Amino acid sequence: MGPMNLMSMSTSDLNVFLDSFDHVFSDCDGVIWAKKPLPGSGEFFERMQQLGKTVHFVSNNSMRTRQNYENLFAAANISEGFEKLTIPSTAIAEYLKAINFSKTVFCVTCPETMNVLQSYGFTCKYGPEVGLDLYTNYNKYLEDDTEVGAVVFDSDFNVNLPKMYQAITYLARPDVLFISGATDRHVPLIPGRVLLGTGIFTDIVSEEANRKPTQLAKPGKLFGEFAMKRAGVTDPSRVLFIGDMIEQDIGLGKATGFKTLLVLTNNTYEDMKAHKSLKPDFYADSLGSLVPVLNKVCLNGNYDG
Ligand SMILES: [Mg+2]
Repeated sequence: MGPMNLMSMSTSDLNVFLDSFDHVFSDCDGVIWAKKPLPGSGEFFERMQQLGKTVHFVSNNSMRTRQNYENLFAAANISEGFEKLTIPSTAIAEYLKAINFSKTVFCVTCPETMNVLQSYGFTCKYGPEVGLDLYTNYNKYLEDDTEVGAVVFDSDFNVNLPKMYQAITYLARPDVLFISGATDRHVPLIPGRVLLGTGIFTDIVSEEANRKPTQLAKPGKLFGEFAMKRAGVTDPSRVLFIGDMIEQDIGLGKATGFKTLLVLTNNTYEDMKAHKSLKPDFYADSLGSLVPVLNKVCLNGNYDG
């Protein structure tokens, strides 16, 4: 059976769908907001809560500050969104805390991820922020630093050769942890144009160091389980995961055992059908497109779940 179109379901099928989960985990960028809130997103979550579902948010975007996230949730009419949000930076910090990590973290990350790690008390090393002209100037970035016990990659707009040299050098020691946040190889900014995401650089280091990172972002299963733990959820099969990216969102859902809903805000119906291995369980044009559908059961009292 292929993905089911939630926008044209009969009331009885809709009731079966609504009975199949207790928790909604939703991606943010491209689902709740693009540059501005996407119409009807807030109402969608309101309906879900009226139907007795818990609502949580899971994003790969560690670049935003807390204030920025709070403003975006408020603009979409979602209350306490930040409190219900799981992002890679907090997952990485919690992971390191859980294993009593006490060495230095080498950060090839956005400043906000480093802020989060430092707020947990971790010592961070970073930089340099610009590359150098001659290969001979790179020698010092090939020297090991035994204080470093972890290398973290997560959305760094200033990623460069010196940082990658250092990462590969430190990772030559097998006891140095290799952790990745956002894995996106490409960023959907302008249709038809190729924009390199952070995942490309993590992959180069992974290949050259011959190490696989522990993935604490979508689509990593560990990240899905971390989001469940934060939400107090124990059964993944009772979670509906909503996202706009096939690799990250549907990939995470499949890895963790969630039900999945793809909103077609960044992929077309044809893109969804053409994907070789990842198929969502359900699809819809957008969260807003589902509000009238949910109104049928919410307002008419046709849902008994
Ligand atoms: Mg997204």
